[in-house]
Amino acid sequence: MIVQRRRPPWVLMYHSVSACTDDPYRITVSPYRLDRQLRWLSSRGLTGVSVGELMRARASGRGAGLVGLTFDDGYADFVDTALPLLRRHGCTATVFVLPGRLDGDNAWDEQGPRKPLLSADGIRTAEAEGMEIGSHGLLHTDLTTADDATLERETRHSRTLIADITGTAPAGFCYPYGTVDARAVDAVRTAGYGYACAIDPGPLTGVHALPRVHIDASDNSVRLFLKRALHPLRRKPLSVSGTTTPVPVRPADEAADANPGPAGAGEPARTAERADDENGSKR
Ligand SMILES: [Zn+2]
Repeated sequence: MIVQRRRPPWVLMYHSVSACTDDPYRITVSPYRLDRQLRWLSSRGLTGVSVGELMRARASGRGAGLVGLTFDDGYADFVDTALPLLRRHGCTATVFVLPGRLDGDNAWDEQGPRKPLLSADGIRTAEAEGMEIGSHGLLHTDLTTADDATLERETRHSRTLIADITGTAPAGFCYPYGTVDARAVDAVRTAGYGYACAIDPGPLTGVHALPRVHIDASDNSVRLFLKRALHPLRRKPLSVSGTTTPVPVRPADEAADANPGPAGAGEPARTAERADDENGSKR
C-alpha cells in the first residue's frame, strides 16, 4: 500500500453570520466582514468551496486555489444572510447541522445570546442552493465524554435523520466543540462518514480529523494573510493511502466527477485555535 503525506487542506470555520454584536463566544461574523473576507479570498486567487468538493478536487489533482468553507451549528442566519453572500462571490460551503435541534436554538451556549437554528425546510433550502449538508451530531454533545449509546446516536443516527431530510446521507461530520479522540474518530468512520472536521486534532489529524482555522469578526485581510501563511507550518501532514474511504457523493456530483476521492474536514472545540488564533472559539 502506498502512503503519501500531504499538507492538510486549508479549511475555514465559521458559525453565525449576523449583525448581532453580543458575542461572548466569538462565533459571529457580520455580513460586512464575511463579504470582505470572501473578497480577500478572491483577490488571492482563491475560491471557497464545500469540504466535500474540496476533497474530491484534491483527490483528482484539482485542489489548487480552493479553500474549504464551513459553517457550524446550522444557524438560521446561514440561509438568510450567509448564503446570498456566498452566491455573490461564487462560493459554496458545508453547513454542519444538528438534526436533534431542528427549529431550536444554541441552548448549549450558556451565556447566549440565543440564536435560532435551521428547520428541516431551511436545510433543504441550503442544499437546493448548492451547499453541502454535514452532521454536527444530534444535540451538540462532546463525543469524548459520551457513553457508547450516545456516541452511536450522535454519529450514526444523526446521519440517518439528515438523510431523511435531504434524501442523501451526509459525507461529512463535524465534532462539537472540536473535541475529538480516537474512539470518536472510529465511531464517525464506522457510521459511514467519508470525512470529519475538527479544529486542532494534533496526532489524530487525518481525513476523519481535519484541522480548521477559526474565523471571527476580527479577521481582516492582514490576519487572514497570516493565518494562511502559518497553516503549512503548524499543521501535521495528512496521510493519504489507497485504502482511504471514498467521500460519498450526490448523484449530480457523480455525473460531474467520475472519480470521487477521499474527503476531509474539521470543527470547533473546547480549546481555541492555538497558533493562528489564540483566542479562538470552540463552539
Ligand atoms: Zn458547534
